[in-house]
Amino acid sequence: MSSSLAARAPRLRGARALFTGRSGGVSIAEHAGLNLARHVGDDEHAVERNRDLLAAALGTPVVFVDQVHSTDVHVLPRRGEVPVVSADAMVTDRDDVALAIMVADCLPVLLSDPRRGVIAAAHAGRQGLLGGVLQRTVEEMAALGARAEDLEASIGPAICGACYEVPAAMREEAAAVLPETWARTSRGTPSLDLRAGAVAVLEAAGVPRTAIDAEHPCTLEDERFYSYRRHPRTGRFAGVLRRA
Ligand SMILES: [Zn+2]
Repeated sequence: MSSSLAARAPRLRGARALFTGRSGGVSIAEHAGLNLARHVGDDEHAVERNRDLLAAALGTPVVFVDQVHSTDVHVLPRRGEVPVVSADAMVTDRDDVALAIMVADCLPVLLSDPRRGVIAAAHAGRQGLLGGVLQRTVEEMAALGARAEDLEASIGPAICGACYEVPAAMREEAAAVLPETWARTSRGTPSLDLRAGAVAVLEAAGVPRTAIDAEHPCTLEDERFYSYRRHPRTGRFAGVLRRA
C-alpha cells in the first residue's frame, strides 16, 4: 500500500486499513489534497483522480456509499458489481473490493473479524452514533458470521470533545442516550465527545476494549485532515480497508 496516502495506519488484523488525510492528492484551494468527496464543490475530475489514486494504493476497486447521516448499513452483494446506495456503513466478506467511509470531523470507524474474514466501515457523526449505526454494523457483521468478541475496531481522526462545542440542550439529549458523550470544551462550554461514545457503544456490543484503537488525532486541531468545523467549504478524507 502506498504509505504516502496513509496519514494514519491503524493496526487491524485481517485487514489492510488506512486513514487518508489531505496529502497525496491533486485537488487545489479549499479542497487541497486528497479530497475524495463529490458534491462538496471540488472539481469532479480532481475527485476522480484522487479516488483512482486510492484504488491504486489499495490494489482493488474502492466502494463508496452516498452518506446521509442515517443508520443504514449496506451489506455488499456476494459477487459482481456493487451498486452505489445511500447508507452510512458497509459490511462485506469479499476480498476483491475495499470499503471507504468519508468524513471531516465525524468518526470513521473500521472493523475487522480476522478469524472469519468480515470487515466493515462506518460513518458515525452525532446523529448516526446516537441512532445506533455502530450497533447495526456489528449486527450485520454477525449475520455474515463475525463474532463481537473477535472484532477489532479502529476509530480514526475526528473532532475531539475539547473542540466539538454544541448547545447545552443538544449535549443533554445526547447524554440521555449515550452518557459517555457528555463533555466540556477546553473553554468550559458544552460539547460532545463522540469518540468516547463510540468506544462505549462498541464495548456494549461485545468488542473487547483492548481491541479498540481509539488513539487518533483531532481533525479540528490537526491540519493534516479536513475539518468541516474549521472550514465549511472543505474536502473529505476517508477510513478505508480491505481484507488482507
Ligand atoms: Zn480537538
